[in-house]
Amino acid sequence: MHLTILYRGSLVSCNYGCEYCPFAKRQQSAAELTIDRQSLERFANWIVDHPQHEFSILFTPWGEALIHSWYQQTLVRLSQLPNVRKVAIQTNLSCSLDWIDQANPDCLALWATFHPEWSNLDRFLERCNDLHQRGIRFSVGVVGFPRFKEAITALRQRLPQAIYLWINAVKAELPQLTDDDRAFFQSIDPLYELNTHHYPSLGKSCKAGESVISVDGEGTMRRCHFIKTAIGNLYDPAFETALVERPCTNETCHCHIGYVHLDYLELDKVFGAGILERVPIAYQRDEFVRASSQS
Ligand code: SF4
Ligand code: SF4
Repeated sequence: MHLTILYRGSLVSCNYGCEYCPFAKRQQSAAELTIDRQSLERFANWIVDHPQHEFSILFTPWGEALIHSWYQQTLVRLSQLPNVRKVAIQTNLSCSLDWIDQANPDCLALWATFHPEWSNLDRFLERCNDLHQRGIRFSVGVVGFPRFKEAITALRQRLPQAIYLWINAVKAELPQLTDDDRAFFQSIDPLYELNTHHYPSLGKSCKAGESVISVDGEGTMRRCHFIKTAIGNLYDPAFETALVERPCTNETCHCHIGYVHLDYLELDKVFGAGILERVPIAYQRDEFVRASSQS
């Protein structure tokens, strides 16, 4: 069996203070962080102990996880396992990248977000170039506020062309955007419009709950991050019995990490093996290298 897991433990803290984020500058006590670390260890041990299955894993923390050594070391460890196809994480890329040398570059991937009011452009680009040179697959995103247009232009100009820069459409603000704003975002991110919809999902077939699940620090399984009903527990020896086809029970789905699994959208054809780290097939390394060598 191949199972995709979106893991979100009890981390709810961040070193950045983005005003659009509920976790901005939130801190956790040493005791709270210890619980998160132990939960993560338990999860990684469980993956090691299930060599009969293959896994793709995306860490979607509420806050910044990569500033903690235990996330870095867990990514290294998971990336080296023969039963892990992909291990990816959402990050603000503020951490040092020293640990990355120990990871398997064919398995590790990053979903990096540039936050213009907190990230230093030079430092961010240094890290992007470093990742690019090491052959780590990653995407870069920015929240789609018109006030970030200048920063987005500078980022696009200096980011290697092979790197996909996506714009996270702020759904609540879409009615306030001008045609120029939308055209600008679309010129940066060819898939921007795709991210501007609330996709009808009620009763629709979705991989979430069957071959894709969300798991928290206690092992509680949910079909996705957007439907809170538990469907089982990963640490239950019979966890597999919970993995069945389940039509969606929400009216709509509007977040990339959800709707990419809606069958009728066929977004696996757009993202292929880069679906977790949000890298479209057109940007994936081999194809890009082939395309540039032919031009
Ligand atoms: S970097 Fe991410 S988690 Fe941290 S405050 Fe900004 S949006 Fe929130
Ligand atoms: S469509 Fe979205 S909300 Fe519905 S099950 Fe799939 S991921 Fe979850």
